[in-house]
Amino acid sequence: MPLRLGCTADDFTGGTDVAAAFRRAGLRTALVFGVPGPDTVLPADCDAAVVALKSRSTPAEQAIADSLGAQRWLWDQGAAQIYFKYCSTFDSTPEGNIGQVTDALLDGAGARVTVHCPASPPNGRTVYQGHLFVHDQLLSDSPLRHHPLNPMTDSSLPRLLSAQTSHGVGLVDWSTVRRGVEAVREALAAHERAGTRHVIVDALTDDDLATVGAAALELPVVAGAAGLAEGLGHACPATAHSTPEPQPLDGRAAVLAGSCSARTLEQIAQFYAAGLPALHLDVLAAAAGRDVAGAALAWYDAQDPALPVLVYASASPEELAAVQDRLGVAAAAAQVEDLLGSLAVRFVDRGVRRLLVAGGETSGAVTTALGIRSVLVGDEADPGVPWTYATTRTGDLALMLKSGNFGAPDLFVRALSEPK
Ligand code: ADP
Repeated sequence: MPLRLGCTADDFTGGTDVAAAFRRAGLRTALVFGVPGPDTVLPADCDAAVVALKSRSTPAEQAIADSLGAQRWLWDQGAAQIYFKYCSTFDSTPEGNIGQVTDALLDGAGARVTVHCPASPPNGRTVYQGHLFVHDQLLSDSPLRHHPLNPMTDSSLPRLLSAQTSHGVGLVDWSTVRRGVEAVREALAAHERAGTRHVIVDALTDDDLATVGAAALELPVVAGAAGLAEGLGHACPATAHSTPEPQPLDGRAAVLAGSCSARTLEQIAQFYAAGLPALHLDVLAAAAGRDVAGAALAWYDAQDPALPVLVYASASPEELAAVQDRLGVAAAAAQVEDLLGSLAVRFVDRGVRRLLVAGGETSGAVTTALGIRSVLVGDEADPGVPWTYATTRTGDLALMLKSGNFGAPDLFVRALSEPK
């Protein structure tokens, strides 16, 4: 079967999030890390493929080049439609890259009009009269106005987008969405006739997103967060697969954590509280040349193989600041990522078949070290945190890649005590 939906995501964990959304909609979904090359192989029989890029905060030219590379590859795999996934808080700066990347994808596809809808109702993100809300607050009144990289101080999506494109920006409001699929299609056609290229569409609920998804099904390029991806997925004709679903894997289980986010620190605390074996990596000792990875492997070999293990560099804000003061932020991160990447390879060599990785950057380091370019998406353990299945040179691996603040506090214990 040809691929139905292709998607480019503007960051790594956003890729996991949108892949989980397609899968919830019943689509067999693959996730590919980085711009695919001609030799990147898609798992058999997929309905959807997501290419996870790092195009949110890179210079616009790089974001455009990567996005077009992903689009071409997705078309080569048969994708009939390209979904551009960005954050449900419209994370971007006045310089972009949401407008620029969408324009490039539309130019590439020869398309005249697209839909934008970052609503994600389960996370409290809704769009009304073109304004983005976070629960009961306008985006610009929410804590996102203090985001360290992309502070969001305006809630008007038409205004935000107009600063990032030279093309017209319009709105299909909620009253039209409530009138149903045909009404939205007609409103989009009217915008296209008027030469308006980017159309923000209001949505308050998952039902609204299903309506918008059905109305946008024939557009070559559609843009938004994971919510509209699920709406589009539900509108796609279901495919009957002959390929079996990936199965839970037998073998040892491990967590590698490099995230210092509050939720990850809670998950580590719960792992200890459950009496499971855990080891903290001494980053300063590794930087001083001590064989910290070797010591961690010796520790691992001494553990009961029936129990999951946790090895982590994650640190409290004070500890983190102390390490960063000594080594510098970039050198500290490189040290941690190198340690966790090399441990991942050696754990898998030793028979780990279920591996949970905590942290967005850390996940990138681990998949790169393991040489994993694509995975098949399986069941979610928590919203936006699916198990995925990969093939490595030493065998199959169930891999869970978790963004820092994702997952319930008991995720590590629960996910690894289940037989998958
Ligand atoms: P999150 O998803 O929570 O943002 P990331 O993995 O993306 O997690 O980012 C965490 C960053 O912190 C990584 O670059 C990691 O290398 C770095 N890091 C983790 N532990 C330490 C530590 N003990 N000292 C210094 N840097 C660390």
